[in-house]
Amino acid sequence: MAAKNRPLLADLEQELRFLSEIGADFVFAPAAKDGPRPERKGTAGEPAKAEISPAVTARKPAGEKQRVLQAAEEKILRCTLCPLSRGRTRAVPGEGSYEAPLMFVGEGPGADEDIQGRPFVGRAGQLLTKIVAAMDFTRKDVYITNVVKCRPPQNRTPARDEIEKCRPYLLTQIETIAPRVIVCLGRVATDFFHPSAAGMSSLRGNFVEYGNILVMPTFHPSYLIRNEGNKEIKKLVWQDMQKVMAALSRK
Ligand code: URA
Repeated sequence: MAAKNRPLLADLEQELRFLSEIGADFVFAPAAKDGPRPERKGTAGEPAKAEISPAVTARKPAGEKQRVLQAAEEKILRCTLCPLSRGRTRAVPGEGSYEAPLMFVGEGPGADEDIQGRPFVGRAGQLLTKIVAAMDFTRKDVYITNVVKCRPPQNRTPARDEIEKCRPYLLTQIETIAPRVIVCLGRVATDFFHPSAAGMSSLRGNFVEYGNILVMPTFHPSYLIRNEGNKEIKKLVWQDMQKVMAALSRK
């Protein structure tokens, strides 16, 4: 096996193990073949391809989705796979519609989320709720979650191994809900789908294909709050959301 394929296979093995533990028996995409990785940069006008594509092939029946997602939520609530579990008050699996066409993925719970066990309920969350409403959705129509499900101490950026331990949970949520579009809020979420040395300013606003899901990187609401006086940043986020709305309105 070529060395460069090992991380991807390890990732899939970890995910398979997790899914079989919770009894999810849907079909997986064929394993990656040896050979060069697909080119990730999109050609002009075409979205770039994410490095790891999920096994989102067909929509699953509602009952199956509920069973898989609730099993994953229960597992998240009891998870002790990484040190973040020791500092948490409550784990935060995510919330919203299991049939959502649109998913928002943030970085990790903050202080308010850690206490309430719900994603994006603090200041950044209030801003996200306004963005969702401006897009003509409610929080119940979409699904909101994070890359890591437990609060990092002092809201520090989650470490690579913490993200890796949590990865199967987010992959399960994505594959089961199978949204048409995912909005990545900030760097950590964007890196999850599309690791790149480029800055958020150049990544935002450009769709990346993740299997058959369109992924839109944009600025994190906390960044908007930290730059409250900067109307330009808000305008850019709104431009990104308009692209998302246009993609959702296409058949
Ligand atoms: N910031 C995040 O990235 N996620 C939350 O849930 C709250 C704040």
